[in-house]
Amino acid sequence: MSDTRRDFLKFIVVGSMAAGCPADLSLFSAQDSPVPQLDGDHYEICHQVRDGHTFAKPPVSKRHEVVIVGGGISGLSAAYFLQTHDFLLLEKEAHWGGNATLQDYEGQAYCTGSAFDYAGTASDHLARELGLAPLAIKCPDPTIVNGKWVADTWGAGLDELPYPASVRESFKKFRKDMLALAADKNQEQFDNVPLSKYLKAYAPEVKQWWDCYGPSNYGAASDDTSTMVALDELKDMAGSAEHDARITLPGGNATLALKLSETLQAKFSERMIGGATIVAVEPQKTEVHITYVQGNALHTVAAKFVVMATPKFITSRIVSGLSDDQTDAMRSFRFCPYLVINMIYDKPVYNRAYDSWCPGNTFCDVVVADWVMHDQPGYKQKNNILTFYTPVSELHRDKLLQVAGCQRIAQNVLRDFQKLLPEFSPEPIEVHIYRRGHPMFLSAPGVFTKVIPRANQPLERVVFANTDSVGPESLVYAAVEASRRAADWTQKRMAGSTPSAASAAAGFSK
Ligand SMILES: Cc1cc2nc3c(=O)[nH]c(=O)nc-3n(C[C@H](O)[C@H](O)[C@H](O)COP(=O)(O)OP(=O)(O)OC[C@H]3O[C@@H](n4cnc5c(N)ncnc54)[C@H](O)[C@@H]3O)c2cc1C
Repeated sequence: MSDTRRDFLKFIVVGSMAAGCPADLSLFSAQDSPVPQLDGDHYEICHQVRDGHTFAKPPVSKRHEVVIVGGGISGLSAAYFLQTHDFLLLEKEAHWGGNATLQDYEGQAYCTGSAFDYAGTASDHLARELGLAPLAIKCPDPTIVNGKWVADTWGAGLDELPYPASVRESFKKFRKDMLALAADKNQEQFDNVPLSKYLKAYAPEVKQWWDCYGPSNYGAASDDTSTMVALDELKDMAGSAEHDARITLPGGNATLALKLSETLQAKFSERMIGGATIVAVEPQKTEVHITYVQGNALHTVAAKFVVMATPKFITSRIVSGLSDDQTDAMRSFRFCPYLVINMIYDKPVYNRAYDSWCPGNTFCDVVVADWVMHDQPGYKQKNNILTFYTPVSELHRDKLLQVAGCQRIAQNVLRDFQKLLPEFSPEPIEVHIYRRGHPMFLSAPGVFTKVIPRANQPLERVVFANTDSVGPESLVYAAVEASRRAADWTQKRMAGSTPSAASAAAGFSK
């Protein structure tokens, strides 16, 4: 497609830029594309908190048993688990769902993040309890590289990769050696070693593949990847197709967030306040005071207990009484900036797999949005919506600051995609860009074994949820698991017992 044609493509840019990254609205008028829209998260007040602004603390206007801060999947599920209690759920945005927010185009749901879940996890159970029916993905991930589409990359695909024989052998040796490591019972030792240490022994193409896979899945290229996390991923990919536990909902995990919010709002709408940014959580002797900004007004409510379901880099700036060590741990999480780019095609362009890996390009992988619907009785695809996962290096977060910067990245994604295979040349009718500044914490060495346990110790009356309370990756089932633990802890405290800190703190269970 010529540059002139690209200028006429309709780009829609939505989404947030987190702390330190205000959107430059003045640049909007300078865009070529027709009326870009900005409809995303708001961080002005969080920036003020970060910059040390002191907010007045009005007297307590209401008292609740428990206040939950943050209305992503973790906060929503905490409210669901605590629904028999007098809870108040506060969220800074006007919408619910956080990083799992649903979008749709002409009635077809698509992802702005969060494409996979796993059978048997806390989120799978919760989805089914709410009447949703997650569908098996049934598709090992292919790789598209050097002009070839290769099915089942880490299975039979290893013999098909379009590289010299010596490179294919190196991929096979990596798989064999790493699966031997993965069999080691003491997995935690590998959490403190970067994956790149092991990759040195193999062909550079193996590293290139992981530097594509890692940022998209857990925010980190191989220098910053916990080997424990990569081993776990490889075990899953190299396993047989019958044991592939991956599931999803039409529209991805955001459909669970939507269902949770609708279910709660049907019964408790007066206990769910959107557009309420919490600026202070101050433990007192027998209760906790929570101060929030809504519109231009400040309010303070009191609660016996608080569940903090915000990401730790925000939590650390709001909650008083954290030790220096806990504050340091909360602030040591690193976050990957991310564009999720959805290209809408009015004709079929790519429908061969759910998630396909494309090393060496601006984007990492491409997901077919309605993949699990394809074999549903009576389903007919109207538009072919392709979701391009485009994590950006932390060093280039500033590129996301301007709409023009996001458009440029999207144009590069389209250019790279069209070069992959001849059949990818058609032009999309629209490009939807969802940007986030700090959505996904990096599964860096030591995060799981050293950072999370320190960051996650409950205070006397404040307990921590959010996906970054469980890990080892930013995952929806970890977000639900974190809130289930936080809800259990809160209920025990309400009943007068003192649960061990460990019961609410770290630990990984898929
Ligand atoms: C591009 C991308 C792809 C992903 N892919 C997958 C995947 O395939 N599978 C998977 O399982 N997971 C995936 N994830 C991760 C998954 O989306 C997250 O782990 C999950 O949504 C986190 O939910 P949460 O509730 O813990 O946190 P969040 O979604 O971060 O929710 C926190 C909430 O707190 C609110 N908040 C923040 N500050 C304040 C304040 N001061 N006052 C009030 N409210 C506040 C925020 O607005 C937000 O709604 C992906 C994420 C991204 C970004």
